Amino acid sequence: MQTHAKVVIIGGGVVGCSILFHLAKHGWKDVVLLERSELASGSSWHAAGQIHTISSDPNISRLQGYTINLYKELEELSGQSVGHHPTGGFYLASSPERLDYLKQERSKARYMGLDQEFISLQEVAEMHPLIDPSKYLGALWDPIDGYIDPSSVTHAYAKSARQYGAQYHRNTPVIETNPRADGSWDVVTPNGTINAEMIVNAAGLWAREVGHLAGIDLPVQPMEHHYLITETIPEIEAHGKELPCGIDYESNLYFRQEQQGLLLGTYEPSATPWKVEGTPLDFGHELLPPDLDRIADRLKLASERIPALGRAGIKNVVNGPFTFGPDGNPMIGPVPGMKNYWAAVGVMAGFCQAGGVGLCLAEWMIEGEPSIDVWAMDIARFGEFATHEYGTIKSAENYTRRFILTYPNEELPAGRRQKTTALYDRLVARGAVMGTGFGLEHVLWFADKPENAHETPTFRRSNAFEYVADEVRAVRTGVGAVEIANFANHEFKGPGAGAFLDRMLAGRLPKVGRLNLTPMLTPKGKLYGDLTVARLDEDTFYVFGSGAAQEMHRRWFDMHMPDNGVSYRNRSDELHGIAISGPRSRELLSRITRDDVSAQGLRFRDIRRTAVGGVPVILARISFSGELGFEIYCAPQYQVKLCEQIEDAGRDLELKLYGARTLLSLRLEKGWGVWTLDFRPDFTAVESGLDAFVAFDKEADFIGKQAVLTQRDKGPEKKLVTMVMGTDDIDVTHDEAIFHNGECVGYVTSGGFAHHVQKSVALGYVATALAKDGEAFEIELLGEMKPAKIVAEPLYDSTGERMRS
Ligand SMILES: Cc1cc2nc3c(=O)[nH]c(=O)nc-3n(C[C@H](O)[C@H](O)[C@H](O)COP(=O)(O)OP(=O)(O)OC[C@H]3O[C@@H](n4cnc5c(N)ncnc54)[C@H](O)[C@@H]3O)c2cc1C
Repeated sequence: MQTHAKVVIIGGGVVGCSILFHLAKHGWKDVVLLERSELASGSSWHAAGQIHTISSDPNISRLQGYTINLYKELEELSGQSVGHHPTGGFYLASSPERLDYLKQERSKARYMGLDQEFISLQEVAEMHPLIDPSKYLGALWDPIDGYIDPSSVTHAYAKSARQYGAQYHRNTPVIETNPRADGSWDVVTPNGTINAEMIVNAAGLWAREVGHLAGIDLPVQPMEHHYLITETIPEIEAHGKELPCGIDYESNLYFRQEQQGLLLGTYEPSATPWKVEGTPLDFGHELLPPDLDRIADRLKLASERIPALGRAGIKNVVNGPFTFGPDGNPMIGPVPGMKNYWAAVGVMAGFCQAGGVGLCLAEWMIEGEPSIDVWAMDIARFGEFATHEYGTIKSAENYTRRFILTYPNEELPAGRRQKTTALYDRLVARGAVMGTGFGLEHVLWFADKPENAHETPTFRRSNAFEYVADEVRAVRTGVGAVEIANFANHEFKGPGAGAFLDRMLAGRLPKVGRLNLTPMLTPKGKLYGDLTVARLDEDTFYVFGSGAAQEMHRRWFDMHMPDNGVSYRNRSDELHGIAISGPRSRELLSRITRDDVSAQGLRFRDIRRTAVGGVPVILARISFSGELGFEIYCAPQYQVKLCEQIEDAGRDLELKLYGARTLLSLRLEKGWGVWTLDFRPDFTAVESGLDAFVAFDKEADFIGKQAVLTQRDKGPEKKLVTMVMGTDDIDVTHDEAIFHNGECVGYVTSGGFAHHVQKSVALGYVATALAKDGEAFEIELLGEMKPAKIVAEPLYDSTGERMRS
């Protein structure tokens, strides 16, 4: 065995083998995979092998399409059959809500390059005569769905990787991973030690144990899962053609043909986490004892929908474990806080996803960034809050909801109150409906009283609509207050802080006591942050950004941090606060501070340390509401006092507390995008319009400078636009297809109802040639085409006068 490698991958399941293949294919030959036993000795050997494209995230769906289309190439390269049966597959809905969901999925497919279409129930019955079509309302068809042989796929990846020059060693368990001072890793096995520039934890069922070797706790959890295979079914024999695969959402079932019988798997309503305390090192080639009682009600439902099942004998029952992450999506990428340690864990649908995971990881390692936004799979979407207990609770929730519909306005119940602010009880007592982001509870909206503080999950406008309208009215005409604990605060100090941030941020650094908006770019000029940078004194800066992205940004800052001259801390949990906004917000503020907060005393974009409500704060004159407004940050122990003072002082001004939904509505009428939706690494600064904040002429060679200059000179192919839509009881959320003269020309990134201007608004990217004021489009919303028109100017206060007043 060699003693040095550029990359060592730990784990020879389908995920590790795909990473090996993609690294080698993309040019890195000095890569080696270590497998403790035979290849596919974890979940991979006992998978059902069904493959499909639909996922909760469009980019993951796109990558699932990529994975499936890779199987032909793998067979050719490796000379090994992967048992690919591209039977096509349908997604069956038996409730109107599920049918709506499928319509939404089809809309996404239109721009993801997938070929999904609705087929009639008659066609379902013709293709799959065992199904009782009367149980369903609709079926979406995807021609590339089907099934493969899991073990053969894993071997085909490994053999293909070898064709490209990579190596793998079986029967080579990794027993230690020791970091060296130069950032490399010594990977210790009984057969020798390899020093690796980078390592990848792709240990599937043992991801936790391999993580522990490097001192990492990964919040993944194996879950027990059943599928069964029937004896020969005469109707299948008689049909003569192979049956398509299927997913029946309401009964939580997936099924496909297996020889002359059926294979049927199900996600039961009560999950069984497996080996919470850790996966035994000697587990591998055995299955778990089946427990058919656990899935009996699912089997009953199945035989109502596929009656031949009820008559068929069961030939084989498989109960095997596989690993889930807290939101059901893979967790990949460089592990924050670690050097040269990569993860590819929690991949729960490896035969649909491993190709995409391998591709993205290889691009990320070799080129420094993946070619598409992988936020939905990025391990940095979880932080310290995601303990292994949290991982178990959320993974179990996710397992039971595998095929259950989650509405765009729905907040899932498990693992709640993991992180709360000092104001939590107070806000709940005021009628707050809470959501959660990066583990932290935050207010979505306020009901008139706590008894009404719940929201009906729906694709359409919910019972929150009128409450949010009231909150918007208060901010636009009087004064409102919103807790601002769910933003990230990054603190940089030291003589090198200015120079460091000048390189990290594409915008201009502010003078002392001022703040600026700035994008942060990748070397390829993609957006990596939409940030506000504030300078408290010559060598102290705060960077405010998306709370969800705080760990991703911490990783980015750490990665580029010089050895000395800058000290950096993520202070998001230490600086909470309250923002007040609206035409009467200055009046309110002046009552609780001795500072001069007049238009001259505290100018738009000023920031300072002072006292408000008698507590020490950082006070900034800025607001995401598009109104006159102030953000007041304080340490959590002062938040209750600050809130009391604001509420007391605001009583006769009819101060109204508001939540995130209102903020999101207010920003729509200003045409402002938000991070993770409109602004993310799928887009460049020039495409998004954030180039307005790029200091093209600044001296510092900021990351992405060359790329953004080229993009500016060349002009973007697509642009972010704001559209007003013709709808009545429904608004876009994100990912709806945008049509122009019948052709799909882009997609929606965010939207909703702008209550003050009384318009339904969509933000989305369309071809630059079409990004003109007044240009008309159609947006596909739950299967219906709705008219939409570009508005070039903000719908509210287009000159920004109110904000600057
Ligand atoms: C019953 C069942 C049905 C399923 N059906 C489907 C399906 O239809 N479609 C689908 O897409 N997915 C399905 N899956 C899920 C799929 O099996 C997994 O997503 C996939 O196998 C995960 O692959 P992996 O490489 O991440 O992990 P694993 O397959 O667990 O591989 C991890 C590998 O790492 C090795 N390893 C661990 N520790 C070490 C160490 N210290 N040193 C060296 N090597 C180590 C192990 O030996 C193992 O080979 C199913 C799973 C189950 C259980």
